[in-house]
Parts: sequence; C-alpha cells; structure tokens
Amino acid sequence: MDLSDACQVWSRRNPDCFDRIAAVYEQMDAAYAATAVQYGFVCNGCEDNCCLTRFRHHTLAEYAYLQKGFEGLETALRNRTVVRAHAYREALREAESTGASFRHWCPLNQAGRCILYAFRPMICRLHGLPHILRHPVRGLIQGPGCHIFEAQCSSSASRPLDRSGIYKSLAGLERTARQASGFRLPVNMTIADMILDFGGESEIDRRADNYR
Ligand code: SF4
Repeated sequence: MDLSDACQVWSRRNPDCFDRIAAVYEQMDAAYAATAVQYGFVCNGCEDNCCLTRFRHHTLAEYAYLQKGFEGLETALRNRTVVRAHAYREALREAESTGASFRHWCPLNQAGRCILYAFRPMICRLHGLPHILRHPVRGLIQGPGCHIFEAQCSSSASRPLDRSGIYKSLAGLERTARQASGFRLPVNMTIADMILDFGGESEIDRRADNYR
C-alpha cells in the first residue's frame, strides 16, 4: 500500500478525517496568531522566504490534506506544479551530492504566494516565531524566531509559542490515520516529493478510477 492508497482507505473509514485535520490546523493558526499579536510581529514575507527553506514533513495526515488541496487545482496548474517539483528534486539532489547550500522555491510557491495556503502542512504554519516544546524524553526544547522576527522583536518579553499541544493534536490524528489505514512506514518527504507522489492528470484519474 502506498501513501495515496492509505489516504483513500483512511478517508473511506473515517469520512470526517478532513474536517479533523482542518480543526487541528485551525488550532495551530489560532496559537500562532495569539503569539504573534503578543510580540507585535507581522510577517510580510522577505527575500529569505520560508518557502525557500528545505522542510521535510512526517505525517500521513499532512500528506492527505495537501493531496486533497492539490487534486482540487485545475489541471494545467497541477501539471505546472509537477514540473516545478521535478526541478526542485533535481536541485536538491545536486546540492546534496556536492554539499552546496540549498535555496530553492517550494514548488507550491507561485509568484511569491502559496497556491495551497489553506492546505499547507504544520511547519509552514508555525515557522517564524520563537517556540518551546515540552518533549516527553528530551525535556524542554527551545527554538528562535526567524531572522526577521529576531530583528524586529527579540527584545520583547512576550511568551514564545508553545508547540506542545499542537504536536500532541497532530500526533493523535496521525495515530488515528495509521490505525484506520494500516499504514506503518515512516514519512519523510519534501513538498516536491509529495507532489510527485500525487502525480499529474493521468495519475489522479487512475486513482479516481480505482476508487469509484
Ligand atoms: S507549502 Fe506553501 S507555505 Fe509551505 S513552503 Fe510550500 S509554498 Fe510555502
């Protein structure tokens, strides 16, 4: 069973799964907004955009929701995104083989905007603010804000974003997804990997045929 098949099984067995992912994302967005307001931080984008950062994503739940968004795009846009995903993966391979630093626009970023903003995964929603995580094994983990945040707000005495409850909610959802689908393998993918897994028009039609 591949990831797309696992998502299909999960959504058949738990028809409310996308509502549940959306609810967890709303919790993230609300926590981010509340912390940003405390600091007076507003993200207006920057030349060192987080969409140039090489993020990896680790849950079936995030994959499923991004796939839902991707399949709602019009065909030409989907196919252009697949082309950008190939270029991204090629550039990443090159950087990893030469040890060069890697800065490349996420294939979902078009003209500076995320074309699947409502479906973007967790780290895209949380990046930028200083944060803490109360890890059950590693204890208290702290992380800084992005460089724009640090330039604007580092002297403020507000509280960092506590990611503990957010991670717990996503982990709970992921447990449900894996139990329902029977999918056991680890997930460790860039957005480009996911897009190429979703495929273009023919792959999406094939999947739809399989599950009619
Ligand atoms: S998914 Fe969207 S928000 Fe996240 S890195 Fe890609 S373009 Fe940026």
